[in-house]
Amino acid sequence: MVNTLTVGFIHLFLCSLDVGRQLPPPFSKEKAMQCPNCKSDRIDKKNYGKRTGTVVGAVAGAAGGAKTGAALGLVAAGPVGAVAGSIAGSIIGALTGGTTGGMIGAKAGEVVDEHVLDNYHCLNCGHDFSA
Ligand SMILES: [Zn+2]
Repeated sequence: MVNTLTVGFIHLFLCSLDVGRQLPPPFSKEKAMQCPNCKSDRIDKKNYGKRTGTVVGAVAGAAGGAKTGAALGLVAAGPVGAVAGSIAGSIIGALTGGTTGGMIGAKAGEVVDEHVLDNYHCLNCGHDFSA
């Protein structure tokens, strides 16, 4: 029962990430990028690493957080409310763990984006390049 709830929650969490991902990418206000191929400034930032890192981090964090939360719920609620307490605890744990994990994963992915991948995509000519 705990596991079903936890999995359901992780699913919800990932779906909310998906919704965010489908929004049109905001044009970068950090710095004006220019395509090295055609000099267009219609540049899309792909953020593959950041997106992957967010999801991986959120899942890892939620799994770890749910475990910790279940244990905390058990302790806090005592033997009488142990089941209800551990369920609530695992949900809270997944929430905080998933959020924290997602943030850490996003940061790690950002580093990958900046240094490893061709993170920029020209909307004018389709050229991929890194910063
Ligand atoms: Zn171009």
